[in-house]
Amino acid sequence: KQRDPNQPEFHQAVEEVFGSLQPFLAKNPKYMQQSLLERLVEPERVVMFRVSWVDDKGQVQVNRGYRVQMNSAIGPYKGGLRFHPTVNLGVLKFLAFEQVFKNGLTTLPMGGGKGGSDFDPKGKSDAEVMRFCQAFMSELYRHIGADTDVPAGDIGVGGREIGFLFGQYKKLSNEFTSVLTGKGLTYGGSLIRPEATGYGTVYFADHMLKTKGDSMAHKRVTISGSGNVAQYAAEKAIQLGAQVLTVSDSNGFVKFPDSGMTEAQLAALIELKEVRRERISVYAKEQGLEYFEGKRPWGVACDVALPCATQNELDENDAKTLLANGVKCVAEGANMPSTLGAVEAFINAKILYAPGKASNAGGVATSGLEMSQNHMHLSWTREEVDARLFDIMQNIHENCVENGTENGYTNYVNGANIAGFKKVAEAMLAQGVV
Ligand code: NDP
Repeated sequence: KQRDPNQPEFHQAVEEVFGSLQPFLAKNPKYMQQSLLERLVEPERVVMFRVSWVDDKGQVQVNRGYRVQMNSAIGPYKGGLRFHPTVNLGVLKFLAFEQVFKNGLTTLPMGGGKGGSDFDPKGKSDAEVMRFCQAFMSELYRHIGADTDVPAGDIGVGGREIGFLFGQYKKLSNEFTSVLTGKGLTYGGSLIRPEATGYGTVYFADHMLKTKGDSMAHKRVTISGSGNVAQYAAEKAIQLGAQVLTVSDSNGFVKFPDSGMTEAQLAALIELKEVRRERISVYAKEQGLEYFEGKRPWGVACDVALPCATQNELDENDAKTLLANGVKCVAEGANMPSTLGAVEAFINAKILYAPGKASNAGGVATSGLEMSQNHMHLSWTREEVDARLFDIMQNIHENCVENGTENGYTNYVNGANIAGFKKVAEAMLAQGVV
């Protein structure tokens, strides 16, 4: 905290992980060797750079770009790029730190990293987004590579942005490699990658419910966000027979009738967000649905809550409201959407609660599958990738249960942190002090 006083999100993420590791470390002192914990919180490398680009009016705009290369003990750095005005070094360090443990859980050989910019894609034309992406990659390309660091998407970085970034990387490096994931299907992308984070989150929730002899079928589900993760969490929840009651954006949320969002309403949402890039208030109007300006969806009674928007979007009071309304299961699609107080409330109430690093790991896992396909120069079918994603989520779930169960209750936070930590820590100890 003394070294980085202005990074509250990073401190929060470290506190959550090290807090839950403490009893495990006390029983396993070998992991306290070689200043291992101190090395884990210090990024191996941080790159910060100027991104200057010309807007449609001919004005020069200046943004800041970042790549945090946190830990490469178990594989090349891997983690998304976020374009959002709230991006700063502390936010990216929290995301990169979480990513290290998440990637450790996936069973695939990927280290942890994260990057992005304070650029705001909202309201920008396609041409402006393209010029920004090209300027961003003109610096980033010298720090990444198929066996060094493989970025993907995150908030504000979807298929359109990955395409522009990939095009510029290819031009500058004169190489067609697997340097980004989330690519389009015509140039090396994997089927199911766009769906993977949302699908994986719902598979994970279903696995959790199965430990109680239950499932996602007929569950009332509240979802926050309406971007990539939220859209495909909704799709899989509907496929499994659940009733999706809400989606949202940073301005408010929309409520569907008790029968839940229909497939046609989901298709309209994806079109509105991905093609017209419109707001949820417009969606509510077009669909004739109730819209709650300035509100988050956690007051709507549900069995399963899936926070899929952003960090700290669900606080202790929201958690108490959800619990009072009888929530049984919370699976995070976003990274660190629940505050420390909210997490404590869920665990004290002994409900099924999964932290993002376990439940949203399907996205990065499928990025790993995209890298494998690229390296082998082949493409697996939709069914094949989906089956692998399903298995990976099941493995992560089993790993959490194995490492986090005490007195009959599975604390998925402990399970995920211990399992992810063990893998990375073993590799770091074996490689010496580097
Ligand atoms: P998108 O950009 O596609 O969607 C983000 C959604 O979250 C939008 O609905 C956005 O609303 C909302 N949102 C963003 N910032 C805020 C905020 N400050 N307050 C309230 N709502 C906000 O991003 P993704 O769906 O890809 O990412 C969502 C979350 O999932 C993030 O936490 C991300 O780190 C995590 N994640 C994503 C993965 C992926 O594969 N894409 C993998 C693993 C985790 P608005 O339009 O108003 O900004």
